[in-house]
Amino acid sequence: MEKIVVVGAGQAGASCVAKLRSEGFTGKITLIGEEHVPPYQRPPLSKAYLLGDMELERLFLRPESYYAENGIELMLDTRVDAIDRADKKVIAGGMTVDYDALVLATGSVPRRLPAAIGGELPGVHVVRTLRDVDEMAPGVVEGRHALIVGGGYIGLEAAAVCRKKGMEVTLIEMADRILKRVAAPETSDWFRALHTRHGVTIREGVGLERLLGDDHVTGAILGDGTELPVDLVIVGIGISPATSLAEAVGIEIDNGIATDTQGRTSDASIWAAGDCASLPFRGERIRLESVQNAIDQAETVAKNILGADQDYDPKPWFWSDQYDVKLQIAGLNRGYDRVVVREGEGACSHWYYAGDTLLAVDAMNDARGYMIGKRLIEAGKSPDPAFIAEASADLKPLLK
Ligand code: FAD
Repeated sequence: MEKIVVVGAGQAGASCVAKLRSEGFTGKITLIGEEHVPPYQRPPLSKAYLLGDMELERLFLRPESYYAENGIELMLDTRVDAIDRADKKVIAGGMTVDYDALVLATGSVPRRLPAAIGGELPGVHVVRTLRDVDEMAPGVVEGRHALIVGGGYIGLEAAAVCRKKGMEVTLIEMADRILKRVAAPETSDWFRALHTRHGVTIREGVGLERLLGDDHVTGAILGDGTELPVDLVIVGIGISPATSLAEAVGIEIDNGIATDTQGRTSDASIWAAGDCASLPFRGERIRLESVQNAIDQAETVAKNILGADQDYDPKPWFWSDQYDVKLQIAGLNRGYDRVVVREGEGACSHWYYAGDTLLAVDAMNDARGYMIGKRLIEAGKSPDPAFIAEASADLKPLLK
């Protein structure tokens, strides 16, 4: 193994190249990314960075000098257009770069509103890249009207920032409740109440008919005929895995670039990690759209390229910041059949069970509940739900 190429200079790509070097690989590493800046963290884009509370420099995962100092060739502003599997090289612009092992860490692409309903009007934004947020930020202005389309975590975080900046905020969600794809009704209710208290108007079960405006968005007509004045639209309606490079050369796609338990694709020289990759997990094929997954999966791939022969065993966790609330999620709630609510002082956690098995915890300002829940889930321990529901019960002994 002499040459390793990683496509996608995001969270997974950066984690992979760093791990290759720290594991002692001395050959050539090339990290190719289409964005204009070195790898950075995306979570603050819809939180502290959009709010103006975090400087650009702090977004970067490592200083740019790190790559040169560690002999990692970082090619920015460079989009890989194709893979030549037979000759083991990638094609970017007019250049080719040879590989012995190739890692696809291409992330995902945000879904956009169709142009036919005004989705391309100036003032309409998605939140995926630094550039997206730098373009959007000047429109986040006190007294103006923001329409947030989509009640997932990104939409809710954007709503919180716009509200903190003094905007009039309406959030619409086509499903009958916010967070429906990712959380139980108890968690949806909790966040609806939080946003309503902060003055956001949340409309559930209502879609967007169309946006209005000529050279900039000025209004919106909702599915129920309501017309709203709008100066800024933030679209958070989900993402699709960036699979086109792999798909074009016949690599197996199944809810993302299909990988085996070690991160290898259907081509033994090509690996995938992060948002773009799907992996076998508890009998199904899933994708995990989180920083934890991007780092851990990419590091496992790096080790396996070097011969470690290790399975990736995800230990999912996720977080979201909205106003003064820190939500921390441990585990995966898929397949839950009941939710136990644990109320604390200024804190609350929702514990997801399937039968007697604890699957996941949503902890709102409850760092202790999160930490204990995470350790229990990772240890395969499931406390009695009745005990969890008792606000005064001390959870710590459960860890013994
Ligand atoms: P990315 O970080 O998206 O990196 C992929 C890179 O590949 C991109 O730079 C892309 O431009 C590049 N690329 C794609 N195709 C090509 C090509 N052909 N040639 C060259 N380059 C290419 N996760 C959490 O756990 N907690 C959070 O609170 C949280 N908040 C988030 C908030 C926002 C606004 C966003 C957008 C995401 C958030 N996430 C959060 C998700 C998390 O950031 C992602 O899961 C993570 O970034 C995935 O890493 P990745 O490397 O797979 O993809």
